[in-house]
Amino acid sequence: MSVTETGVSYYGLSYPEHAKRDFQEMIEHHCNAVILALSEFDIDFWFPNIVRVAETAKELGLRVYLDTWGVGKWFGGEPPSLFLNNNVANRQVSAFTDEPLSAACFNTEAFRRYYFEIVEKLAKYVTAADGFFWDEPHYALPKSYASITGGAGDDWSCRCPVCRKLFESEYGYEMPKQLTMEVKRFRHDHALHILEEATQRIKQIQPNTKIICCVHATLGTYYVTENRGYDNWDKVGRSIACDVFSTTILSYQLPRSFFKSITQRTVDIAKKYGKGSQRWLMNYYQQPDNVSEIEEICRLYASMGVESLFAWTYRGGDGTVLAAPNALEMWDALGRGYESVLQR
Ligand SMILES: [Zn+2]
Repeated sequence: MSVTETGVSYYGLSYPEHAKRDFQEMIEHHCNAVILALSEFDIDFWFPNIVRVAETAKELGLRVYLDTWGVGKWFGGEPPSLFLNNNVANRQVSAFTDEPLSAACFNTEAFRRYYFEIVEKLAKYVTAADGFFWDEPHYALPKSYASITGGAGDDWSCRCPVCRKLFESEYGYEMPKQLTMEVKRFRHDHALHILEEATQRIKQIQPNTKIICCVHATLGTYYVTENRGYDNWDKVGRSIACDVFSTTILSYQLPRSFFKSITQRTVDIAKKYGKGSQRWLMNYYQQPDNVSEIEEICRLYASMGVESLFAWTYRGGDGTVLAAPNALEMWDALGRGYESVLQR
């Protein structure tokens, strides 16, 4: 057993005195860390209270991480994007149809500047934070159906004018419409470039900050990959944009052997590159047939050497459209699972 960190994500935060009660409830549920999921609107509108909410969590003894949640719709998450709201251009573009998508292209100068301003502002003023959480960054998938384990459509992004120009300057020919080996490599490289520059900028302000890079927990094997741009885990694991290698939640409908193999691969990558390891648990939307299975999954992850366990989200998402069917029971079961694995 090696779990030293247990936590949940927390959003909709506005008032530190109210957040304080929620943080105390997290501590009662054996959390010692919290991820503040910050939308672009939160960061823009509620900034003074984000600083205070982070300080409140810190004063109670929680580790605090800042999640640039859904920013540009490049990161995962439900919140809308102010950048997309305020910009008609700088969007990712479908390779097959040339149509703009509802996701910012992170290779454009406009979005890069916008994003760096956000992380520098957070690093400079939210001094109670221990680190940042890169939440499921990905290229937009221009398809109408979702999948957790694979089966993505053939279309891909981004083939906007900026990406095409960059590709041509690096490879010496026009960016193909097919997802060739060179296009895949180009996408992997640039997906990390922006995170690496953001990391450098943050660490110039807060040298000891910890960067958790959380990628989709997909097969990423020889036969099946979703091509989100962060599928080459070796590349992500060795990057300076990753102090802790983290992989996302899994549906409870997937076999437990899948939970094991994803976790083994997560721990292996972390060890290979001398990084921390983190696994996520689903504590919203879905639940296992027996809610206590989440406790067993905590113990499974702990037995495999995972150092940090996080769950999405506080109170099982109670009160949102994505609540687990028995959200508060799931929240209590998660607390029992954390209690059984957390090393103090
Ligand atoms: Zn682009």
